[in-house]
Parts: sequence; structure tokens; C-alpha cells
Amino acid sequence: MVRLIFLGPPGAGKGTQAQTIAQMHHVPHISTGEILRSAVADKTELGLKAQTYMEAGELVPDQLILDLVEARLNQADAKTGWILDGFPRTVDQAIFLETLLARLQQTCDYVVNFEVPDEALVSRLLGRGRVDDTEAVIRNRLEVYHQQTAPLIGFYQERKQLASIDGDQPIESINQRLNDLI
Ligand code: ADP
Repeated sequence: MVRLIFLGPPGAGKGTQAQTIAQMHHVPHISTGEILRSAVADKTELGLKAQTYMEAGELVPDQLILDLVEARLNQADAKTGWILDGFPRTVDQAIFLETLLARLQQTCDYVVNFEVPDEALVSRLLGRGRVDDTEAVIRNRLEVYHQQTAPLIGFYQERKQLASIDGDQPIESINQRLNDLI
């Protein structure tokens, strides 16, 4: 059973690693970004509300995210483990998650912080070419990351849950380091 939170800036490679590790350990990979993108594609009420924020590189409001995460963690496949990718992204979300996990009588094994310098992120994201991967939107997402998400590093350090990983390495090396950790 593994329960991991993947933390890090956009383009850090969280999604790629989360997918592999989730498959290996037979636990769901829960990516709030992916859930939101599929809601946008399906034009659901959630998608319509989230779309403008996402296209501007802003975080979507907590009221749209918190219920979604709670419902997802309550699904049967998440009872025996999960990898959370892209959530929490603010201290408020982290506090919400802490309460939710206590209620579910679950604890997270590690919060894995992917460290990648900004310059490397920008070139990776520009190469990816998603709708929110234009240079101006990327710059905004990085700014939002530094202001709203980076404070979670200290938050989880204080709780002795943080494990940092150098994300500026080949995919296989990062995967190896993650496996060693688990
Ligand atoms: P990336 O890590 O490349 O920025 P994600 O797929 O994690 O991409 O997220 C894409 C977008 O979805 C974010 O820019 C944001 O608008 C929205 N989003 C995803 N997760 C959250 C979250 N936990 N809180 C608020 N907004 C979120």
C-alpha cells in the first residue's frame, strides 16, 4: 500500500512519475489537473466553471476542488492507497486534506517534492504544447506556484513528511530514486 503526495512546480514531471508508480503499486493516480481537463472536454458544469481559470494559469477556486477530491478519495479503489498529483496546491487545501485523511483514518507516507529550476520548466512546458502551455500562461503558472504552492514545502517539512527529489534528471533516475524511497 502506498499513499504519496507529489508536490512541485508545473512541468516538474509529477504526472509522468505518478503514472508509473501508481501502475506498479496498483493504486489510483489521482491528478486534479486531469480530472479538470476531462470536465472541460466534456463541458460539464465543473468544466465550464474551471475553464477560464485554467486557461489563464490561475488556480481554480477551492469550492470546485475540495468536494471533488473528497469524493475521489471515498471511492473504493482509493481505500488501499493512492498517489495525489497536483493536490494540495495551497495551504488551505493541505489543511482540508489533513482533516479529510484523519476522518478516513489514513496517513500519507511521504510528500515528494520535485525540485526543478524555473528555466528548465519553461522549456519543458513550451515543448509540451497543451492549451495552457503558452509562454505567458506558463509564466503565470510559475508565479502562482511560487506564491501559493511553494509554501507547502515548509508546511510538510514541519510535519516531517517531506522528501525532496531532484527532478532535473532523466526519467529513469527519478523513478529509481522514488522506488528507493518507497
Ligand atoms: P501543471 O502541473 O502542469 O500546472 P495540472 O495538470 O496539475 O498542471 O493542472 C492544470 C491546471 O488545473 C492548473 O493550472 C489549475 O488551473 C488547475 N488545477 C489543478 N489542480 C488544482 C488544485 N489542486 N487547485 C486549484 N487548481 C488546480
